[in-house]
This record gives sequence, C-alpha cells and structure tokens, in this order.
Amino acid sequence: MMSGRGSGAPSVVVWCGTAALGCAWRFAQPRAAVPHGTIIVLVFTLAASCHRAEEPAPVAESPKAIATKTGAEMVLIPAGRFGMGSTAGRPDEAPLHEVSLDAFLMDRTEVTQEQYAKLVAANPSHFKAPDRPVEQVSWADAAMYCNLRSRDEGLDPCYDEKTAKCNFRANGYRLPTEAEWEYACRAGSDDAYSFGADERQLKQFAWYAENASKKTQSVAQKKPNAWGLFDMHGNVAEWCNDVYEPGYYRASPAENPTGPADGEKYVLRGGAWNSTAGGCRAATRIGEDPGFQDACFARDAIGFRCVRRATDDAAAPGGGAEGPEKTVGNALRGIPPYRHFNGTPRRAFPTAGLPGIAQGSIFAATWLVGQSAPTGGQAARATQGPASNSSATKTGLVYSDIYLRHNTGPGHPERPQRLTAIVQRLEAQGLLSRLERLAPGASAEQWLTTVHTPAYVEHVRAACRDGVATLDSRDTPVSRQSYEAAVAAVGGVLAAVDAVMEGKVRNAFCAVRPPGHHAMKDRAMGFCLFNNVAIAARYAMKKHHVKKVLIVDWDVHHGNGTQAAFNDDPNVLYFSVHQHPFYPGTGTADEKGEGKAIGTKINVPLPAGSGDEDYQKAFERTLRPAALAFQPELVLVSAGFDAYEHDLLGRMKVTPRGFAELTRIVKAIAERCCRGRLVSVLEGGYNLDGLAACVEAHLRTLSQ
Ligand SMILES: [Zn+2]
Repeated sequence: MMSGRGSGAPSVVVWCGTAALGCAWRFAQPRAAVPHGTIIVLVFTLAASCHRAEEPAPVAESPKAIATKTGAEMVLIPAGRFGMGSTAGRPDEAPLHEVSLDAFLMDRTEVTQEQYAKLVAANPSHFKAPDRPVEQVSWADAAMYCNLRSRDEGLDPCYDEKTAKCNFRANGYRLPTEAEWEYACRAGSDDAYSFGADERQLKQFAWYAENASKKTQSVAQKKPNAWGLFDMHGNVAEWCNDVYEPGYYRASPAENPTGPADGEKYVLRGGAWNSTAGGCRAATRIGEDPGFQDACFARDAIGFRCVRRATDDAAAPGGGAEGPEKTVGNALRGIPPYRHFNGTPRRAFPTAGLPGIAQGSIFAATWLVGQSAPTGGQAARATQGPASNSSATKTGLVYSDIYLRHNTGPGHPERPQRLTAIVQRLEAQGLLSRLERLAPGASAEQWLTTVHTPAYVEHVRAACRDGVATLDSRDTPVSRQSYEAAVAAVGGVLAAVDAVMEGKVRNAFCAVRPPGHHAMKDRAMGFCLFNNVAIAARYAMKKHHVKKVLIVDWDVHHGNGTQAAFNDDPNVLYFSVHQHPFYPGTGTADEKGEGKAIGTKINVPLPAGSGDEDYQKAFERTLRPAALAFQPELVLVSAGFDAYEHDLLGRMKVTPRGFAELTRIVKAIAERCCRGRLVSVLEGGYNLDGLAACVEAHLRTLSQ
C-alpha cells in the first residue's frame, strides 16, 4: 500500500514518443506502468544505436524514466525477450539461451552514497562523495537498503529480514535478478556491450581500469545505454538477487528466472573502476561471497542498484493514476510460488545478515567515518582498596553449550558458531586443557534486577516464551531459549567472579553469548539482552563486598548500557575505547559521568581505521594512569573483538597481537591493584577465524 508524502499529490504522466530499437530480440510488452503516486518527470530520447543495420528494427515505445517519491530516478524497463549469456565468453556464460521477462522498474544509476546515507545513516564507502556510488556494501547491506527504501515509500519490503528470502510478489524494492540485470544492460543489443562489439567505445559509456583513475566516479557522467541506464558497464560491480552457480544457464527457466535456490556466492554484474574491458561485458558473471569473506573482488568496487515490480495504475497514458496499485499484465506470470516460501531459509547466507544496517542498528557504519576524534578522559579520583591474596595461578574459562541455544536466525553475525570457533581453536592449539573450566551458577536470575528493571526481565522472559522474533530493536533477535541462554550468560560471569574472588583461579575469560554491554536497564539493544558485565560488577560489590570496580571495554562499539548503569556511581571506573562516530552513537570524550561520579567514565573515541598503536596509546596514556589512581579491587573487561582488522562490522585494524598487548596492560593493572583479579567477558567479534585467533591471543596472555 502506498502512503506518506506522495499520497494525494497529483500524478503527472508524460509519455515519450516511439523510437526505433534495432535489436535481435523482440520486445513483447513495451508498455508498462508507473506506481500510484509517482510523478513522471523525465523523458529521455532513445538513441537507438544498434550495430546491426541489416536486421529488422521492431518499433517500441521508448522506456520512460520516472522519479520515485524519495527522488530516485528509475527507468521502466519493458517486458520482452532476449538472448542471455554468450557463446564467446567464459564457460559460465554459456549456453546462450532465450529468456523472457516481465516489465520492471530499475534505478537509472547505481545507488549513490547520498541516497544510501539518507536511509541508513551510514556511508561505508571508501571513495567518499555524495554522488559517487556507495560501495563496500555486502549483499545483505544492499538488500536491507531495498527494504528501508520500500518502507520509506510506503511499499511492502521484499526481503524477509530473518531468512533473506525475497518475496517477488511484494511491490517494494529488491535487487535485480541476474536476467533482469543483463536484459537491462543490453538494452536491445546482443553484442558484448550495449553499444556494440567495439571495445574502444567503452570509454564513452563506462568507468573502468582504463579511465577511472583507480577510484569510483560520480554516477551518470558517461553516456547511458539505449534505455537510459548509466554505468551498467562500469564504475562499481552490482549485486544481483541471484545465487551464483556457474552451470545455472544449462537449466535456467525460460521465463523470469530467479537463480539457483541455494549456494554460497551471489552474483555480481557489470564492470567496476578496476575492471578490464572484458570484465565489463554485458554477459560477464562473477560469483562473490555476499559478506566479502574471501572476497576476490575489491570491496570498494562493489555496489548495487534497485529494481521493483512494474504496476499498472498508470499503464495507459494519463490513466489510472489515482487507482490502487496493481500488477502490470503478466508481471508475475512465470514466477512460480516461491520454492521455499514457507520453508527453511532459502539458501546459505553465511555472513552479515539482513538485520544489518538499519539506522539505529549495531551494524551501522557512519557517514563521518573519516572524522578524527580527540582522545579523552581524566584520571579518576584516587582511593585505596585492599587487595586479597590469591594463590591461584590458573586462568578460568566459562563456557556452556547452553549459549548455543540463543538462536539469532540465519545470517545474523552474532551467531552460535562464534563460540564454537573459539572452543575449537583453543582445543586445536592445546590451550583448552590448561584452563580451569567454570560452569554457570544456578542463581543468576535473582541478580538481573541489580541492573535491569523487574518489568524488563519479565518482558524478555515473556517475549522468548511467546516466540517473539526480535526484542526492542530489529537487530536483536531472540528465540524460545534465548532467555535461558541469557540468564546462563550472566550466571557464567558471576561464576567467574566467584572463582576469581575466592582465589580458585587467578583470572578468567567468559565465552558467553548473548553479549551484554549495550543492554539498558529496561531495553535490549545491539544483540544484547542482559548486561553481563554490569550485573557482575553489582554482584561483586554486593556479594563479595568489592568497593571499586574497573570496567575496561575494548569492544569496537561504545558500551552505552554499561556506562548508563554506572553513570552516577563513583565506585565504578568505566573506560571505553571505541570506533566513533559509530553505533550506538554515544561515547564522546565529554561523557564523563554525573555528579559525584564525574571523571569515572572515560571515553576514548577513535576514528575508523585505528590500529594496534592507537589502542595501545589510549591504554597506556589514559587508562593506566586513571586505573592506578582509582585502585580497583576487581577488573572486568568487556572483551569484544570486533575491532579486529577484518571484522564484519567494525572498521578498525587491531590484530591478535594488538589484543594481546591490551590484555597485557589490563592484566598488569589488575596485578598491581588487586592481585590480578580480572574477569574478561566476551562481547562482539564477528569474523569467526579472527575472533578465535584474538581470543587465543587474549587467553595466552592472561594465562602466562
Ligand atoms: Zn561490538
């Protein structure tokens, strides 16, 4: 249903004249429609430039360009048939086969950084400029943008945000199928390029290795193809909706093919700024990991454009503009009810999931990534605290299979495999057997309300029991056993506090999930249900009579929940170093605590791209003096490893060696102030191999 700013506005429909299209395949349905509420503002002429003068030139109405409610320009691609693939290209382009497609609307340009940032409040691009294509977007980022744009225009989102299934019947935006992309790119040509076979003309139509100066360029600077689409042959490669399978063409349906049902890779089409001319051909196919793991294509060469169903409320000139949206003619004919429509997840979706990049989501990068940030923090007030003896020499490890039962759904980065990867790595490296295994205690539930409101605890419990999909924010999915797992995560950390305080172990690491540092007293946030570390601090103070706790938070995100829990408590020194600006938006250097607690909250925001040295500097120059002045009796670490250099969410460059160094500094503080009493708790970290390597480095240092 359409709603919002466009409703009620008069629709203006301008029809183009007809033009001759010289092409090898006929266009069965050149007439298509414009969605209700859309104002058609652009008419472009067709420079029908087919190279085969000898072939009959079917007459068709030229495709029309429209402006959507949010200002994107789209071209109404007519229904028709074309020859997909190539007989002269790479093996995966064969066989050449005829495909028929229904009409659809396609963006005239690649989605720009300005368009993307408007909806996502983020710009992950490397080559920054508002009118350049957005890049460094994963397949999931692109799909989520489609959903956000749909919602913004009052359309039905196409993507299921838990399973990544595409509903082709929805009237919202989605990525083009591979067939739609190639059909639109060819614009009637059956040659290597939309303009013909002569590679030398490519410079007029595309930004690629020969002319792009090793970067993206503003969209729509080169000539469009015959249907008015810009940059189809270059600038950035574009995600398609389809899974990639090299042999797919051998069995592809002839009508509206939607790609293989399952697979690890997704299709990229079109050349990019770093492509050779051959890589820019209309038929060139690339299969890429949807989340860039093992990416063979540079991340900053990958973008996308959107399509949406054509609808018929304005199918006739001047007609139907006020009527309800309907499907054009046979727009859905040929698309069978989706194979996995009500079943299991459509296909492997191994990395960044769809809950991805929404505004206010933990996934969000930021438009201001390049902005530098000052280091902040003041030494906290000094007090003396007793230190108890501990004869323990071992490092404890908290882990339980119960943590695997918090099911976040396919594709979510905060997944059970994170813990499996850690445990397997520790075992393979011979470290596991040297650690003292600790099990979660049974009494955690009663301690939840030291930080959270009783109403919130009940809210989480009831939501999980009732099978609610997400809790409080779209990026925080829950399952029926999430409550149990989250309570056990708290229980694990409390068990570690007990073990450390009672001298059973010298220090401990808790491999728990869900993470906790974004959880507020009455709200779930950023994958976090209960604030494990904050509850552990309160627990240590009440149960073990610890007067002062230092919390060190090196997760790439600011621990807003933890800071809020102790913002007016001078007995908790909270130190956070994090990427900024970034999710959740808090953590500027001027956030120092309130009232008596001023100076006990220390934030060191660092710009994206910061690495080992920047972190080490913050720890040595800011944390160490503040901590030694504060003299904690227990050190808790919110140990997120999403500042790792290849993390899926963070944009920092910390290495396992860097984390070992941070561990060394924090461990030295604990040994100096409180006989080494330190409990480290897993927060983020989403690159499985990197997470495991960082945890190994962390534990090796803790256990030295
Ligand atoms: Zn994080």
